[in-house]
Amino acid sequence: MGKVLVLNASYEPLNLTSWRRAVVLLLKGKAEQLEHNGKLVYTQFPLPTVIRLRHYVRVPYKEIPLTRRNILERDNNMCQYCGTRNEQLTLDHVLPRSRGGPETWENIVAACVRCNVRKGSRTPREANMPLNRHPRRPHSSLHFELTRHLQGDRNQEWKKYVIGA
Ligand SMILES: [Zn+2]
Repeated sequence: MGKVLVLNASYEPLNLTSWRRAVVLLLKGKAEQLEHNGKLVYTQFPLPTVIRLRHYVRVPYKEIPLTRRNILERDNNMCQYCGTRNEQLTLDHVLPRSRGGPETWENIVAACVRCNVRKGSRTPREANMPLNRHPRRPHSSLHFELTRHLQGDRNQEWKKYVIGA
């Protein structure tokens, strides 16, 4: 059984839960069903895939640690210069450390060894190696988790509720 996407009353993704927990929320009237996948839990009760809470829940902002693993995950394990995926990836400082480049989400990207060496201590512009996309701090750890669950053809019902997926 897959996970169920729980939306806040504002329609923003809130968390993922088990289908059992989702069914309980629906039966208690605490949430409404927005999407289901057609399978029945029991008669007249389709298995939910997206539900929305009736009351708004405040969520404290959770900082995502700047780690190698998280950078690679943000960059889909893909070299941000040439797009290769099937190699050991390194971390590249967009503005090189030797030139004062900071350790931030905006200045570190995944790069294959070849691109990292080729770029050397130059900026992408100087090296004429444009980045595939502008590196940013991820929205939230939930957003991280959601994009992971959305890889391939899975959880298609969630897509319209997840920004940038
Ligand atoms: Zn590369």
